[in-house]
Amino acid sequence: MTIPIRIRLTAVYCAVFWLSTALLEAVAYVSLTSAIDAVVDRELRERADGLEEFLNEHVSRVSASKLQTELTSHVALGPQFLEIDYVAGPRIFQSKSLAAVQTLRHAGSSPLIWTAQSAGRPLRILALRRKINGRSYDLYLGADLTIPFEILLRFRLLIFLSAPIVLGCASLAGYWVGKRALEPVSRLTFAAKSISAANLSSRLSEPNSGDELQDLARTLNGMLGRIEDAFREATQFTANASHELRTPLALIRTTAEVALLRVSGNADSYREALYRVLREAEKNTVLLDDMLRLSRADSIARVLALQPVALGPHIEQVCERIAPLAREKNLLLKCDLAPSSFCVPADAGYLRRLWLILLDNAIKYTPAGGTIDVSIRPGAPGFVICEIEDSGIGISDSDLPHIFERFFRADKARSREEGGAGLGLSIARWIVEAHHASIEVESTAGRGSRFRVILPAVARLRPAGALTPSTRLISQ
Ligand code: ADP
Repeated sequence: MTIPIRIRLTAVYCAVFWLSTALLEAVAYVSLTSAIDAVVDRELRERADGLEEFLNEHVSRVSASKLQTELTSHVALGPQFLEIDYVAGPRIFQSKSLAAVQTLRHAGSSPLIWTAQSAGRPLRILALRRKINGRSYDLYLGADLTIPFEILLRFRLLIFLSAPIVLGCASLAGYWVGKRALEPVSRLTFAAKSISAANLSSRLSEPNSGDELQDLARTLNGMLGRIEDAFREATQFTANASHELRTPLALIRTTAEVALLRVSGNADSYREALYRVLREAEKNTVLLDDMLRLSRADSIARVLALQPVALGPHIEQVCERIAPLAREKNLLLKCDLAPSSFCVPADAGYLRRLWLILLDNAIKYTPAGGTIDVSIRPGAPGFVICEIEDSGIGISDSDLPHIFERFFRADKARSREEGGAGLGLSIARWIVEAHHASIEVESTAGRGSRFRVILPAVARLRPAGALTPSTRLISQ
């Protein structure tokens, strides 16, 4: 069973409040008791001194019976409790009230002080031995503690009676404080509960209190914002993906329907139809692969197992692989791999995919007879720059900020014809980020584009001076 925070807060508040009050009262009670004892004890000692003086004066001068009479009249003046015993002889004097005390302990060499009962009255008794005129006497003096005990009793009563009142007040105060403190949290909870996929743009109201609750509301709103962005992106991605898949699928269906309706179709026309179906199916496979790659990239943390990769040979391999495409389009593909001594921490598979995307785009968007330059050069200390420059159609200033967005294509019809769905650069950007690198683009419409990838370098394989510049024409 979970106990609400409000109740827990109240319980803790009550316990702390009650314990501190009880402690305070206990300390006050003990202090009062010892203060009373101290005052009474001091008074008893003063009286003992007075009695000693009196005995010094009278013991030798007056007879025992005269002394007893004088002491009796002295005791009669006030509620005195007194006993005087001659240690080696008879008792000299005992007041009635002290006779009621059951046992009087012998003083001995050091004085004794204790509390006893005399006929139902509390008494504080001081016993001490004094030498008077060469004889030892035991003096017993008592003080009535009835009034101090009454004060202490009333004090105890007050403590016991006030305990439930204190506890009740503490509970009410604790509950009220807890309720007030948690009210904004309840409001936030209520508001947060009302937010669903249908109203993700709603936000929690932020109290202007400048405290942790304002911070919490702001943090939750920030989180809602990020969730909303991710949700919008996912929805957009699904819509775009459906749109992209619909066109080739419709083409496949139409082609198949037309072929089936053909009554007297020859083998060539059927082959032509099948070829078209195959081409569209292939395009769809590429598109689905790209989408899968991107959705995986979204769902896994961007952590790749990076191993040192020699950049020069790596890019050279990619260029060789793509060269037939460039050749087919009559493009000049040049690789300037002079600083091939650079080693970068990379996932070779993903890095290869990055260069393939950029080179594939360069080939797609460069008209026949154009040039594509691939080069590697040192960047800022610890970095290496790889550039892919083409003399193609370029990208307009208005399209440039969007080219890394998913499904963005500057020229929709043309890109579709080339087989692109606008996912290549999104994947490229993801790969770049996963390599802790960055990507930049410079482009002028009608004159060409330059994609620059800046990668962190681990080391140079050989000193740069030992290298001879080597520009290779991979295709012509
Ligand atoms: P696509 O599959 O359409 O090529 P990308 O994400 O790779 O998708 O590229 C997005 C858009 O950026 C392309 O449709 C194209 O308009 C533009 N683009 C990318 N690379 C180049 C380039 N080298 N030259 C001109 N335009 C480019």
